[in-house]
Amino acid sequence: MSVEVQKSKKEDNTLTATLNMIKQSIELSELSNDVYEHLKTPMRFVEVAVPVEMDDGSTKVFTGYRSQHNNVFGPYKGGIRYHPAVTTDSIKALSMWMTLKCSLVGVPFGGGKGAIVCDPLTMSMKEKERMTRSYVRVLGSILGPETDIPAPDVATDGQVMAWIADEYSNIMRVPSFGVVTGKPLAVGGCVGRTEATGKGVFFVTREAAAATGMDLEKARVAVQGFGNVGSNAAILFAEAGSPVVAVSDVSGGVYNPKGLDILALVNHVERTGFVKGFPGGDEITNADLLTIDCDVLIPAALENQLKGDNADQVKAKIIIEGANGPTTPEADHILKDNNILLVPDILANSGGVTVSYFEWVQNNYGFRWDLGTVNRRLEEKMTEAFKLVYSFYCEKCIGSDMRTGAYRYSIQRLAEAMQFRGWIRNGTHS
Ligand code: NAD
Repeated sequence: MSVEVQKSKKEDNTLTATLNMIKQSIELSELSNDVYEHLKTPMRFVEVAVPVEMDDGSTKVFTGYRSQHNNVFGPYKGGIRYHPAVTTDSIKALSMWMTLKCSLVGVPFGGGKGAIVCDPLTMSMKEKERMTRSYVRVLGSILGPETDIPAPDVATDGQVMAWIADEYSNIMRVPSFGVVTGKPLAVGGCVGRTEATGKGVFFVTREAAAATGMDLEKARVAVQGFGNVGSNAAILFAEAGSPVVAVSDVSGGVYNPKGLDILALVNHVERTGFVKGFPGGDEITNADLLTIDCDVLIPAALENQLKGDNADQVKAKIIIEGANGPTTPEADHILKDNNILLVPDILANSGGVTVSYFEWVQNNYGFRWDLGTVNRRLEEKMTEAFKLVYSFYCEKCIGSDMRTGAYRYSIQRLAEAMQFRGWIRNGTHS
């Protein structure tokens, strides 16, 4: 097999790195190049103009994207991101990770991702609502409970999902709330969905600590990003007795070697909007956080945070990727050489899509599970996924890293489904 992965003209290392990882995993597993042919590009990628009437009466046209990467297992599934730095390549890569994630954790969804290039911090709620509804109108029929089901991602939340569900239901002329997950409970949401990704991060960390002989109660944890994923994970670590020594967000960070009072920090962020200025610790920068003295590091903000120029200074023994794509390939090599166990994003943050799946199931058959059921099933799924991937990595990926193990495990499942569906003739031979 000799497929060359080309960098796109508009250089984006995230997409190139993802394609390289997919290709390398296919080769290591001795799968057919046909598998790569199916995975190397989204099945559909749309770019749309999203017109919005701003509060001052002017019109602004934002750029929106939806990437539908692969649906061999079921409807496309993946979050919608509102961020000024979104690129086509980053959205394609994010949708590929969703395909890999759903396959890995065994939920019957394909991979998708969407975004609007905007700065939500400068927009009013009304502007965000009009922008969200406009995005749904211009995307039109490519979304649907059986075709493509968005969810929250950076800077989108339950309220945004409720607007999407409402606008989609208006277009379809029937209440059709299963078109999105991560909704508020009042409009068909699932108990525990908001905390699910952070909870999954916690379960995976617990398993990684057990596998490596680390005492979780004594483990000092540092969390980059204090949004949905980071704050919910931090709360669970604090509840479990693990000192959360450092936290940061876009404004900067705080450090307390004895452990931060996480509930007080949550209150501070609710009051002020940011971590900065929290009186319970010393001020640090985001760069400081990544290399702070700790046992478990959880990047839970954005892509490309651990890189060639800082990975060598990481002191944590375990890294759990709460965010998607926080580590570059260069950093991956350095961390592996330094014997740091990195639990990759497609496993570590799959708690969100797992409970999104639970929400979709409940919407489909019109019955609600209680919180105990949701949490128990989430814990079972995450624990099982970690154990399967970790043992595959230990047995079949000697000399490699856990990301490679997770990719190989996931792609083997995709190849099997592609072969049964007749998309490829023989998935297991290169
Ligand atoms: P969010 O918008 O709720 O929070 C993002 C946090 O990151 C905020 O605290 C923000 O201030 C911080 N941040 C932004 N830029 C930063 C920077 N340069 N340095 C440090 N912090 C910075 O988003 P989220 O939903 O928590 O998502 C975070 C990551 O987790 C993303 O990579 C997302 O794709 C991934 N993820 C989210 C979910 C989910 O269910 N929300 C599921 C899987 C993966």
